[in-house]
Amino acid sequence: MPELPEVETIARGLANRVTGDVIESVWLGSKPEPLKSTASEIVATLESTRIAGVHRVGKHIVFDLENGGRTSSPVPRKSRQEFSKTHEGMLVPRSNTAQWIVHLGMTGRMLVCKPEQPVEKHTHAVARLSSGRELRFVDPRRFGRLSVAHGFESGGLEPLEVKLDLFVELFRGRKTPIKSALLNQKLLRGVGNIYADESLFRAGIRPRRRAASVTRKELPRLYSAIQEVLKEAIRLGGSSVSDYVDADGEEGFFQLQHRVYGREGKPCLVCKTPIKRIVIAGRGSHYCPKCQK
Ligand SMILES: [Zn+2]
Repeated sequence: MPELPEVETIARGLANRVTGDVIESVWLGSKPEPLKSTASEIVATLESTRIAGVHRVGKHIVFDLENGGRTSSPVPRKSRQEFSKTHEGMLVPRSNTAQWIVHLGMTGRMLVCKPEQPVEKHTHAVARLSSGRELRFVDPRRFGRLSVAHGFESGGLEPLEVKLDLFVELFRGRKTPIKSALLNQKLLRGVGNIYADESLFRAGIRPRRRAASVTRKELPRLYSAIQEVLKEAIRLGGSSVSDYVDADGEEGFFQLQHRVYGREGKPCLVCKTPIKRIVIAGRGSHYCPKCQK
């Protein structure tokens, strides 16, 4: 399952490939699960827009769309192009800030393809670009989601941007285990199971500790560890970005060298104590009983 660094890598790869391109038309498959907005809403929002940029928000890929693409079409657009329907069914004028939001779920991929490349099984959306290429959304297990929005916000603070004092405030008075707090998307967006375990190891904090019990001395260590782990993984992903966004790339996500995650019973890389695995809020959590207090 792609976590924050993978989504960041994919968003950057897409930004390099499709920024400035114009979405000429959109095809959507018949499976309802991938569509979080209605099909007509997605088509109306995407068609004839220019991709102004692609970035990551939490674990979402966000395409910023501008109306500028319309000039490329010699045919006058129909009136539906001027408005977008909101979830409440209201018609609102299309602003210059429409966004196409893609969540990859477990197995979703966003591919930049030449049109002659065979359409893979489980392709749920194809956006045809004025450059002649296609953006295809492929997702065998269909946990991924496509939607459109204006001024998208996913809640929670961005772990790579949050200031230390705000980060420290997140955990004040919280009785849940620190591990659960790190996974709570309303606090921090995009930190998943693997990176939570790895960050807690580097910070020397046991995953089951109450969030509120993590001291003022430990929190800055945790803050740095999270940023370090995520940035390291993003750097690693940069070299393999082609595997995730180019249709001829190989599948499979890059992996940070895990120090605790998935290493139950194996010796700690620092002190050789066997790594323990416990379950917290249904998620496997890995830690070194000696290095983490
Ligand atoms: Zn250890």
